[in-house]
This record gives sequence, structure tokens and C-alpha cells, in this order.
Amino acid sequence: RGKRAFIAGVADDNGYGWAIAKSLAAAGAEILVGTWVPVTLAYLNLGLLRLPDGSLMEITKVYPMDAVFDNPDDVPEDIKANKRYSGSLNWTVQEVAESVKQDFGSIDILIHSLANGPEVSKPLLETSRNGYLAALSASSGASISLTYIASERIIPGYGGGMSSAKSALESDTRVLAFEAGRKHNIRVNTISAGPLRSRAAKAIGFIDMMIDYSSANAPLQKELSAEEVGNAAAFLASPLASAITGAVVYVDNGLNAMGVGV
Ligand code: NAD
Repeated sequence: RGKRAFIAGVADDNGYGWAIAKSLAAAGAEILVGTWVPVTLAYLNLGLLRLPDGSLMEITKVYPMDAVFDNPDDVPEDIKANKRYSGSLNWTVQEVAESVKQDFGSIDILIHSLANGPEVSKPLLETSRNGYLAALSASSGASISLTYIASERIIPGYGGGMSSAKSALESDTRVLAFEAGRKHNIRVNTISAGPLRSRAAKAIGFIDMMIDYSSANAPLQKELSAEEVGNAAAFLASPLASAITGAVVYVDNGLNAMGVGV
């Protein structure tokens, strides 16, 4: 059979998760997605989409999930009672993993394409402990994930502890690559992506400025498309990348290599 991929963090057709799903499907993978519980219904209308060869991408199953809760004991009463959550079942991380196991046995590829920094528009200096911990809780994960250069360089405006969350994500990528590599022969990598006008990025507020900055200063002066990140993810998930693990792979038109603006 072809490879089976689970992609966490797909809710509309603008973001990186969606583009990764398309690239993996075009390469022959079976697609399962995890969609944040409160947005599941909005997404379900999309259903099918056309691939570059004209065929339709099929999503075998959509699982509602919330990445910040491991099991039902972790879920606070107000969220349990929230109508947007109470209509869905088995959406904590462990329950989703169990459901996927029951439905399909196993997966071959895991993509983490989600982030949430409730205080992302606040500077780190003004970020509350809760906001900081929430950013880390939702935004770190494996085995191919999406990171951002704010982890290693100063990007004013990328606040609320999101820069810290991306640093943790990159560090975890290295340590998990070692542990999962030794124990299970699993590779763990992260893609440091350039700016894309996704729903999450629009919430940060400075995305248009970052896109303009990139096209003015990056070695490649084109707008980055989500598809370019999707294709890099498909490469990293494929046997072509069989010796690549623990890596931060830049897919950003080369902007990371610049030392000064031009
Ligand atoms: P997006 O809005 O398409 O994806 C973010 C997803 O996270 C959404 O589907 C949202 O519903 C989901 N989500 C948020 N909290 C969640 C939770 N608790 N449980 C489950 N799902 C949750 O936006 P995107 O920009 O494509 O983001 C995907 C990844 O790419 C993120 O890790 C982001 O930090 C990273 N990234 C984005 C950019 C950019 O410029 N857009 C640049 C570099 C890295």
C-alpha cells in the first residue's frame, strides 16, 4: 500500500497544512487530517480538491482534535461544556491516536502544522505566564513540523512566547531525532518556512510587511507559495531524505542566509 499520513493543523485551504496534504497526496500518500475542534465543521465543507494531475484529492478521514489536551482528564469544565467542543467526541491527543490506531492500525508520516499563541501580538516582556505556556503547549511537536526563524533571530512583533515555542520546537526536533531514531528508526525534522498569508499569520498582524520584507531582501525575489513548503515536506517524508534527521530545513527563498537588509 502507499504511505499513510496524518496531518495535524488543517482547517482551511490557505495554510501550510493544506499544501502539505496536497503534495503528499500527489505523491501517492493516503491522507488523514486532524482539525482543531472548534473549526471542524467549517472545514468539512471542503471535502475534496483537485490535484495537479487533474485527479481529486481524497481525505480518508477528518479527526477533530485539540493539541493542548492529552486526555479527557486534562480538559477543564468550561471547555467540556462549550458547545463547539461538546458536539465532538474523542478529540484529545491520546484519544485521536487511539482512534487512528483502531481505524487504520498505523501511520507512516506525522505532520505537525499548528500553532497558537493567544498573546502573539504582545511583546514577550508583556506576555503573561498563561499566554506563554499556552504558546508552548500548542506549538511544539514532531515528526515533521513547521517552525519560524523568530526562534533564532529577533523578529519584533512575533510575541506572546511564540519565538520561545519555536526555539523549543527546534530543540525538540534534535533530541527527538536522536531518541526516536535510536528506538524506532523514525526521522524527525522541521521546516523553517518563510512568511505566508495564512489564517494564523493574519492574526499576528504583520504578515504583509514580512512578505514585502522578504521579497525586497531575500536571494530569491518571488513570493513564497505554500506549495513550495508542501513539496519540501513531501521530500522530507520520502525515502529520498532517508539520511536527513534532526534538521531545520529552510524553505524561505533563502532569507535566513542574509546578514543585512538590502
Ligand atoms: P494555519 O492557520 O493554516 O494553521 C494553523 C492551524 O493550527 C489552524 O488549522 C488551527 O486551527 C490549528 N490550531 C491552533 N490551535 C490548535 C490546537 N490547540 N489544536 C489543534 N489545532 C490547532 O496557519 P499556518 O501559518 O499555515 O500555520 C501552520 C504552521 O506553520 C504553524 O506551526 C506556523 O507557526 C508555521 N509557520 C507559519 C508561517 C507563516 O508565515 N504563515 C511561517 C513559518 C512557520
